[in-house]
Order: sequence, then structure tokens, then C-alpha cells
Amino acid sequence: MHMRTERDRKRNNISDPGQLYLAHVVESEYRPSTTRGARLRRGPRSDTDLQRRAQSPFYDSIIRETLCVRPINKFRNNHHSIEDDWLLSSNRPLHPVYYYASTAPRMSSTQSVIVVGAGPVGLLVGLRLAKANIRTIILEALPVVENSPRAAVYHPVAVQELDRAGILQDCRKIGMASGQLTWRHISGEPIFEMGREVSTDELYENLILGQHELAGVILDHFKRCEAGEVLFQHRVVGIEQEEDGDVVTATVETPEGVKKFTASYLIGADGGRSAVRQFCNVTFDGFTWPQQIVATNVVYPFDKYGYSTGNNICHKDHYAVIAKISKSGLWRVSYGEVGGLSTEELRERLPMKYDALMPGPRPLEYDLKMFSPYKIHQRCANTFRIGRVLLAGDAAHLCNPFGGLGLTGGLLDAGALGDTLIARINNNYPDSILDKYSQVRRDIFLKLVDPTSQANLRRLFDSDPDTLRETDPFFKSLLDADGKQKEKSRGLGMLRVEIV
Ligand SMILES: Cc1cc2nc3c(=O)[nH]c(=O)nc-3n(C[C@H](O)[C@H](O)[C@H](O)COP(=O)(O)OP(=O)(O)OC[C@H]3O[C@@H](n4cnc5c(N)ncnc54)[C@H](O)[C@@H]3O)c2cc1C
Repeated sequence: MHMRTERDRKRNNISDPGQLYLAHVVESEYRPSTTRGARLRRGPRSDTDLQRRAQSPFYDSIIRETLCVRPINKFRNNHHSIEDDWLLSSNRPLHPVYYYASTAPRMSSTQSVIVVGAGPVGLLVGLRLAKANIRTIILEALPVVENSPRAAVYHPVAVQELDRAGILQDCRKIGMASGQLTWRHISGEPIFEMGREVSTDELYENLILGQHELAGVILDHFKRCEAGEVLFQHRVVGIEQEEDGDVVTATVETPEGVKKFTASYLIGADGGRSAVRQFCNVTFDGFTWPQQIVATNVVYPFDKYGYSTGNNICHKDHYAVIAKISKSGLWRVSYGEVGGLSTEELRERLPMKYDALMPGPRPLEYDLKMFSPYKIHQRCANTFRIGRVLLAGDAAHLCNPFGGLGLTGGLLDAGALGDTLIARINNNYPDSILDKYSQVRRDIFLKLVDPTSQANLRRLFDSDPDTLRETDPFFKSLLDADGKQKEKSRGLGMLRVEIV
């Protein structure tokens, strides 16, 4: 492609070189091959003209065809780069891209990022990057955002990350603030109560919102970003990077066959079984608990029997969390189970477990909406950075779900990694900032999240409920010397450390 002259630029009243670039593609790249192209010879004359033409079906088809014949690809290679896919994707509406190239701020750099996994962590870091005008493509193996019953509560420190990404208002529209958290005997009698209502000097609440709903909100915002694209049914099956190279390449299984995607950085946000982590030969050190848990969503009037929004049941066999997860009366009941049982065996035992856990008259009447068993782990990757590959969320660390620290930690990774890559790509921070991300987030998991989360689970099944209030170090830390509960007991602000 030859460069246009200053005269051409002035003649076409084009102020941004990005305009020139696409005007050039439309005018001269396509022109030789068809008569329709000849009609484009005069070329767009102004921004308004560009936009008007881009929105007409005729021009849309011309542009699509043009780009497919000759993709704009600064990193032309024998395989796809993000730029190819961006422009060639068949379901991409073309005129917004045309509009982008003509009038929107140009992408801040030629560097791009692949995010593997459209879970809440991958989506959130993708959103932060795309909003900073960094080309970001999210590759997700499933056809849709996953909808299994998992996270539902996020601590204020993680809610702050949702605010920083500009999505908190939308999250609050469908979620709700958590009220009191109560530890109880299996009979329902309270052991310890912790207020979680937001006081006037606090900005963020404990937010209750289904994980898939959170992911849905982030996805909506991500899709609105010019620099972002998400591709479902794209499973990453391999990763290559050269030492001291300036790109990383992912091999991806797609409905159209195997493709290669190249970018400057790749984020593994592909969950606990992370393929990215395994391709990079990173160890996942820690242990798996011998017991397992079952997460259920059920409609049952716990509030009628005096249950708080959050309830931790302390019992050696029937330990559980019972939490209200929607305004419409849906509750999450997650309970401990013995290890080694099959899904069918666990399902058969559900009425017995509910009978032990639920207050109210018998026979119990409830409406079971979801049932899902999980193994539980405490594990951490031996590094969160491998060259141009970075790990975040469950791909980097796993903890049991009691106390809601898993995704809370993942959202904090997403915020920190967003800051880190924006600083590196847009503001030219040194490469060592990527090591800092790895070291800071890994330390926080190992020193704070992991021990707290282990204590949260042990408090439920491995303590004497009759003496817990007086003996448990966490409860003691929440009480003043005279035994009264301290005013401030929330936040977990120490889980967030500025990287940049
Ligand atoms: C029962 C339960 C309750 C929980 N409750 C809470 C809670 O209240 N609060 C809290 O903070 N945390 C909670 N957690 C933890 C929370 O669910 C996880 O921390 C969270 O799912 C991590 O999000 P993620 O985006 O890192 O990974 P995931 O949500 O697992 O997303 C990973 C994505 O990557 C995709 N993927 C995988 N492999 C590939 C591949 N090769 N190519 C492309 N895509 C791929 C997957 O399909 C998936 O969509 C709970 C967990 C459980 C099990």
C-alpha cells in the first residue's frame, strides 16, 4: 500500500491519519477488481460522508468484501493475527469499524492482548484494556457465558474494581447489598453476628449478584468497546512464544477449524483447570480437600424463620452456607459432603442434607433450581507471569468458596492486571512491571487469601460451636476488650495493592 500525500489528505478534508488509511483501502485497494469499485474512485470526502456511506448496505458490502480480499494487517504473517480476525470476522458489524477507522480515536498502540476465558475475570480485565483502547480479543471455549451456581457475594474491595471498570451502577441494578452475616448452630441458633450494612462513610457494600449475571453485565460493556471482540466456541489448545520474542501465538479450535491468533500479550483467565497454565508448564501447588461441597439454588422462605442474608452453619457433618442471592427469594445453600461420592449419590443424599439444614415444618416444601457438586482446593501457580503470558483469577489460584474470597481475589487480579498492561502498553512502563504484578498478587494470595479461606472452612466443620464465639481468633479480633462487637469489621482492603 503506498502512502498518501498531504495534498490527498487536505483534498479529502481528512483530519486523522486513521481516516486516510481506510479511505485508501476503499478507494485503491478494491478499485482494480470490479466496476463497483470504480464507483468508489472519488472516495469519501468528509467524516460525515464516510459515516453516511459506511451505514449504507451497498458500502457495507463493498467494505466487507474489500477487507476480505485484502485484510488490513500490519503484522501480516502466514497465520491470523488479532488484526486479521478483527476485520474478517463474519458476524462483525462493519460500519462501526469503518467509523472507528475514520473518526474515533485511533488505537493507542499497535500492541494487542488475547484473553483466554470469558469468565468474570477474563471479561473484566478485557473490559479494562479495551476501554483503554488496547485491541483485546477474548477467546471462550463455550458457546455462551457459563451459568453454573458459583460466586454470588463480593467483598467491598472487589466491588471497588467493578466501579473502576465503570460497571457498578449496572451491577447494582440487578444485584443487592448484603445485610447481616450470622454464624449459627445447626438448630439455627445464632453464635456470632456481623453487620455488613454500609455506613455513610463507606463507598462500597458487600454485593450480592450471581456470577453469570456479573459476567453478563461486563460482557455487555465489553461489546460496546471499539477495541474489544469476544469469540465464543474458540478453545485455546496450544500456546507458543519465543524467548525474547515480541509476540505470543495461541492455537485455537473454532467451528471453522483450527486457527492461530497472535498478540503482544496473552492472559490465561481460563479457570481452575487452566490449559494456559499447563501449556506454560506452571505448577499449581497446594492441596485438594478430602471432602467436597454441593452448591444448590433453592426457593425456600428462610427469612420467615429469622435467617439473615448470609448464614454460616457450624457443624462437623452438615456445615453449610445459606445465603439469599436474589430479591425474588432465591437462596444458595452450599453444604459440605463426604468425598468420593458420585454425582448420582450426592443427588440422592440431598433430601437428607436439606432435612438437617432447613428450618420450618416437615415435610419440607422447596423448589430446587440448581444442583452442582464441586471438589475444593487451596492451590497457587508458582508464577503468574511466563514471558508474555499472564495468569489471573482461578487459573492463578484456587480457594474453597466459604467466605467468598475466590472471585473477590480474581476481580482484584483483573483490576491489577488491567492497570499493569495499560501502564506497559500505553505508558511505556518497563517490562519489570509484569513481574511486579505476578509477585504482588501471588503474595496476597499466599499470605492473606489462602490462610483466611482455610480458616473460614475449618471454622465451620472443625470447631466446637458451643465455644466458638470465645475461642475463634477471627471472632476475637472483631470484639473489643469488653466483649462488644467492633463497629468496623468489613472491607478486606488489604487484599488490594496498587501495582502502578
Ligand atoms: C460453589 C461455589 C461458590 C462460590 N462462591 C463465591 C463467592 O460467593 N464469592 C467469590 O468471590 N467467589 C466464589 N466462588 C469462586 C468463583 O466461582 C471463582 O473464583 C470464579 O469462577 C473465577 O472466575 P474466573 O473468571 O477466573 O474463572 P471461570 O469462571 O472458571 O471462567 C473461566 C472461563 O474460561 C473458559 N475456558 C476454559 N478453558 C478454556 C480454553 N482452553 N480456551 C478458551 N476458554 C477456556 C471456561 O469455559 C470459562 O468460561 C465460588 C465457587 C464455587 C465453586
